[in-house]
Amino acid sequence: TSSETMAGGVRPRPVVDRLPRYAAGKPPVVVDGLASYKLSSNENPLPPIPAVAEAIAAQTDFNRYPDPLSTKLRTALADFLDVPAEDIVTGAGSLGALNQILAAFAGQNDDGKADEVIYAWRSFEAYPICVGLAGAESVRIPVTPDGRHNLEAIAAAVTMRTKVILLCTPNNPTGPILTAEETERFIKTVPSDVVVVIDEAYQEFVRAEDAVDGIRMYRKYPNVVALRTFSKAHGLAGLRVGYSISQPELTQHLRVAATPFAVSQIAEQAAVVSLQNFDQVVERVQSLVDERDRVTAGLRGLGWFVPEAQGNFVWLNLGEDSAEFAQLAGERALSVRAFGNEGVRVSIGEVEANTRFLDLCAVYTKPPR
Ligand code: PMP
Repeated sequence: TSSETMAGGVRPRPVVDRLPRYAAGKPPVVVDGLASYKLSSNENPLPPIPAVAEAIAAQTDFNRYPDPLSTKLRTALADFLDVPAEDIVTGAGSLGALNQILAAFAGQNDDGKADEVIYAWRSFEAYPICVGLAGAESVRIPVTPDGRHNLEAIAAAVTMRTKVILLCTPNNPTGPILTAEETERFIKTVPSDVVVVIDEAYQEFVRAEDAVDGIRMYRKYPNVVALRTFSKAHGLAGLRVGYSISQPELTQHLRVAATPFAVSQIAEQAAVVSLQNFDQVVERVQSLVDERDRVTAGLRGLGWFVPEAQGNFVWLNLGEDSAEFAQLAGERALSVRAFGNEGVRVSIGEVEANTRFLDLCAVYTKPPR
């Protein structure tokens, strides 16, 4: 093999050998005579709103670097969210923004030991990769059977080495939100030198009235960071733009850790124009929320157990049958995401795709309970 002929050649850091590869959602399956749908990456199925596409097409000055501070976007967001522009740090997607947070606050400590980053599991599958690459150690706290964070267990897992806690609301892939009440109670128990990240990638899809709002939390607590993205509600996943919001106590360090020029000028401009046309974004999000609620109600009507679904996806606790179910979906030209022997996550897509998914569930004989 090439690694044998390269004896004495480069070796990655041990963590790179150990880490799983990020398994991106598979492309739609092709089945003769059936339109294919990709329901495996929690994407927005709708094409960009026309004003965004036009603004992108109008740009030409690509010989220049983008503004490293994304000033136009941060100014627009500050106005939109009613926060100081200084509190916002942009990144290449919220993943890029998360990597900046980890780079600033968690890694290998000066004593050579790894810092700890605690998060619920199962949650967003990029977390272990980001944490491992930062040099820190993942501490995973199992979600409850209905897919919720176990905040008491997370609080109990905090040690002297804990530097960051990742909360995901709604939790990808299981779906439930964290409530404002439980989150604030939790934050009060966490030492003030531990950074609490509230990952709200699906925030715009939330309709639960008791849900936490990361922006309210960050205003009150200097160790809290809210993490948001243009990938989901705004439908700009392909452009890679996200951001974190925190008080200057944290933001000063995030600016140092930020990847220079992480947000391209196209991505910045698209995000600004999307905010300017937020009424259209809201309309689209509402159509997806309506579809999510139709799918959830349909599944429950069939007797399926579905955890609270507040993102643009539903979670099926299919256990050992996960791969089989994903295979059956594939035969109907639907690509869905199976996570090991735990369950299957199905993104809300086009109406026809969602209906076809429900039709499959109606004939599937081993529903999750
Ligand atoms: N956080 C969560 C919870 C997610 O589900 C995702 C996307 N799947 C992200 C962050 C990253 O999204 P992006 O980098 O596109 O903003």
